[in-house]
This record gives sequence, structure tokens and C-alpha cells, in this order.
Amino acid sequence: MTRLCGNCGFVNQDDYDFCAKCGTPLVEGVQPRNFIVLKPEDVKINNKAIIISYIITIFLSWSGFVIGMLLKNTQAGAFAFFGFFMPFYLVQSRHPTIRKHGIIQLAISLVGVALSFYVMMH
Ligand SMILES: [Zn+2]
Repeated sequence: MTRLCGNCGFVNQDDYDFCAKCGTPLVEGVQPRNFIVLKPEDVKINNKAIIISYIITIFLSWSGFVIGMLLKNTQAGAFAFFGFFMPFYLVQSRHPTIRKHGIIQLAISLVGVALSFYVMMH
């Protein structure tokens, strides 16, 4: 069973008391309590979090390259794959700016992984 919103027509899960899309009560007699529907453009971007995500991505995806340069004959370059974690998470964001940072980080980690494998093969 699903609960159809009488206001916007959105199909909600059975256990929802309020519409997940517009916040309209789905059950009679239930009053909305401080229900705020955030649009993606209303979400304030935490610049600190963005910078930290860049540091994590660069650290993870380029560490294989650095370790590979320092220690010969190591398979540490495979570690660089962890660098894809953050950008893949970010590109799934509903916020266009966060998605943009995700794509940039994806490019950073791709270069890091390529370099890591280059030093691993040589
Ligand atoms: Zn609705």
C-alpha cells in the first residue's frame, strides 16, 4: 500500500504521515510540525566540508602514486581506487554545485589512479 498525496499527487510510502515532496499531511487529524521542504538551491553549501572532501579525494587517489614513487615494486597504487569514494558520493547530490565539485574530484582521482598505475607498472 502507498499513500497518495492529495496536494501534489506524489506517491508516498505507507508509513509516511506527511508527503515527502510537499509536506502535506497524508493522515487526517495530523498537523504538520515545523515541516520544511528544502529545495536544492536553498541548501547552504558548507565550504569547509567541500575543502575537506577535496583533501580526502586528493589524499586517497594520489597516495598510491606517492607511495609508488617512494617504494619500488609495491602494489600500493591499487589503494588509489579509494579516491573514487568521495566524488562518487558527491555526484549523486541533488545540489548542482556539489555535483560540480564531485565531477572535478572525479577528474582529480582519475589522474591520481592513472599515475598510481603508471608507477606501479614501471
Ligand atoms: Zn505532496
